[in-house]
Amino acid sequence: MSSIVILTGAGISAESGIATFRGPGGLWEGHRVEDVCTPEALASDPVLVHRFYDLRRAALAGVVPNAAHLALARLDREWAGELLIVTQNVDDLHERAGARRMLHMHGELRAALCAACGERRAWEEALPPATVCPACGAAALRPDIVFFGEMPYGMERIEAALARADLFVSIGTSGAVYPAAGFVQMARHHGAATLELNLEPSAGSAWFDETRAGAAGTLVPAWVGQMLD
Ligand code: NAD
Repeated sequence: MSSIVILTGAGISAESGIATFRGPGGLWEGHRVEDVCTPEALASDPVLVHRFYDLRRAALAGVVPNAAHLALARLDREWAGELLIVTQNVDDLHERAGARRMLHMHGELRAALCAACGERRAWEEALPPATVCPACGAAALRPDIVFFGEMPYGMERIEAALARADLFVSIGTSGAVYPAAGFVQMARHHGAATLELNLEPSAGSAWFDETRAGAAGTLVPAWVGQMLD
């Protein structure tokens, strides 16, 4: 049974009603990326940055997984070979759909990170700046989001999985944010077949053996059916 690595991006959650990043206007929920998604923004305007992620976290209560998340959860349950679902998304829709073999490379809205001791913990409530870390006592909790310029989580595990993969599938990602945008080239280098499922051809489409254009809620269940049935 072969080994699959799947990379998902904001496009897989779009049909659940969560806005994509660089969608119309190039903004994330009305904000420039530089103003809410960099260490410099956190340092210069912590109130704005913390409130931005508080709103995104609170909004999760009003959304549910869509057919694409449910199909990947089915693949996770039924695929007897190796599988790793790497998501760039900070929402929790993959796990709410039931996926287990997954990794949040850009962090999670429902988590807090201590800037002093590095401990990560589940966090459901609002997270004001200077919240005290229960582990070390420093007033240093921040959203557990990987900002531009910071090292994504799990890179060693991801690179090892890509080196073993027979198939790499990219779903709903613009191919504009590195290092995730380079995974297709790593997978190809190690001999994997590559497939892109996206609303439109992405920046990296030329790297894929096959590109299917359309909505994830339609394309992903069809592809999973093809793999399992
Ligand atoms: P992106 O917004 O840059 O690109 C989204 C891609 O999805 C686009 O290519 C678009 O054509 C495609 N798309 C839109 N609707 C689709 C649909 N219904 N079906 C299939 N494809 C669809 O997203 P990205 O590449 O993931 O990079 C953005 C960064 O923004 C990530 O690092 C992520 O952490 C962050 N982000 C996360 C969320 C979330 O957690 N849901 C939302 C916005 C941004």
